[in-house]
Amino acid sequence: MDRRPVKPWIATADRLSPWPQARVVVAGLGTSGFAAADGLIDLGAQVLVLEDADTAGNAEKAKVLEMLDAEVRLGPGATATLPEDVDLVVTSPGWRPSAPLLSQAALRGVPVWGEVELAWRMSLPDRQVPWLAVTGTNGKTTTVGMLESMLTAAGLRTSAVGNVGRPIVEAVLDEVNYDVLAVELSSFQLHWTNSLSLHSAVVLNVAPDHLEWYADTAGWPPGATDPMAAYAADKAAIYSRVQQSCVYNVDDPATERMVADADVVEGARAIGFTLGIPATSMLGVVDDLLVDRAFIAQRRDSAIELAKVSDVMPNAPHNVANALAAAALARSFGVPPTSVADGLKRLRIGDHRIQTIAEIGGVRYIDDSKATNPHAAEASLSAFDHVVWIAGGQAKGTTFDDLVGRVAPRLRAAVVLGVDRQVIADAMARHAPEVPVNVLDSVDHGAMQQAVEWAATQAEPGDVVLLAPGCASKDMYTDYAARGDDFAAAAKALTG
Ligand code: ADP
Repeated sequence: MDRRPVKPWIATADRLSPWPQARVVVAGLGTSGFAAADGLIDLGAQVLVLEDADTAGNAEKAKVLEMLDAEVRLGPGATATLPEDVDLVVTSPGWRPSAPLLSQAALRGVPVWGEVELAWRMSLPDRQVPWLAVTGTNGKTTTVGMLESMLTAAGLRTSAVGNVGRPIVEAVLDEVNYDVLAVELSSFQLHWTNSLSLHSAVVLNVAPDHLEWYADTAGWPPGATDPMAAYAADKAAIYSRVQQSCVYNVDDPATERMVADADVVEGARAIGFTLGIPATSMLGVVDDLLVDRAFIAQRRDSAIELAKVSDVMPNAPHNVANALAAAALARSFGVPPTSVADGLKRLRIGDHRIQTIAEIGGVRYIDDSKATNPHAAEASLSAFDHVVWIAGGQAKGTTFDDLVGRVAPRLRAAVVLGVDRQVIADAMARHAPEVPVNVLDSVDHGAMQQAVEWAATQAEPGDVVLLAPGCASKDMYTDYAARGDDFAAAAKALTG
């Protein structure tokens, strides 16, 4: 069959390329799909949006885009086949590389970008705003929030964008001329990028998560032999072509290796952060202070104070690590030390992240519903001495043996619920057989109330009842926030 050749200029396209000649398919009409379509229309491209879910919300979005002259096909089967005359696909990050549309694009040599790549290209060559970017298995949103707060405290115009919720394209199209962007990038978003060259970037940590998505071999980079390697390779892509600082976690050597392997712009520096005493070119902790031994002239023999450890709220060790990572990016951009402290003091971290809900009879009820994988749950559990743990949901192919083995001494009891409850119950039986475990064989909403009521009977004064599920929430709830709200309601109901 005759096919139009893919336009060669797409490979190096920027805002000034001949977009009116290009027919672009936007795959998926979620938040980023809508923004991508909007951005492409702004460039003058011929836009076709394909989306299977024929919901009222999508119909509404379709109407808006049609008014702007895009074509939208909504409904079952809409994404089954890639039309013939397509020059570029811009995909929603959640789609697997083996989705029919994307595998057909790969077969035909049609480039596939994500909304992040599109935003980057839209800002070139003449509207570039530096991006300070954060990825990692856990702590991304918290770190980006801290970074945004530090940048704002320094009087800079900035916006937290990307995986935090606001599409980057929206910021690029904004009337505000930003000085710098605080960007959260997920591994899925990084998967669909190919030319980013960020001012500075950090990989906070790498631990098993999303392995189901990465079981799809179509998305493996050359040389990857398992899903975990593919996941890590996507995270490492954030360091490619970095211009100033590649920030890594000294306490997570995999992140340092990623920096060592990265192809960066000549002169870019490797900057570590650690909860210990920092060596040269690191940020770290000395006594009760966060200090910088990287972005000062006398770094060989001294460090400067950035903030007090007590300025970090909630004051758990993993949040101190997040604060150091945010500070490294901010300092790399020239933010003064006082603005690091001011940013931390002014920040209120989002709900469902180690959020204290109630204190009843000397027992604190804490909602960390955002702990959606074992690595996050471990950080959360490690912040408390005696815990009654509420866990479970969708384990996404991860295991709990290492986690349970390490936190067992802290566990007073555990109650597990949700579809993969047995995965956790089995790990408890193997590594903490002396700890009482209640397995709730129900996935309806009443289960959380039962879990909290039982947890209350196990907790002693001074203990914490902690919702740190280590799992995704979609088996029982619309999202992690709904799960956290359910926990909070059950905890508050205990007071009667
Ligand atoms: P993300 O955006 O990466 O999902 P969040 O900042 O929303 O991360 O935090 C999610 C959860 O991960 C928190 O509720 C906490 O349990 C855990 N967490 C946060 N920071 C870290 C960290 N640096 N290391 C390990 N776990 C963390």
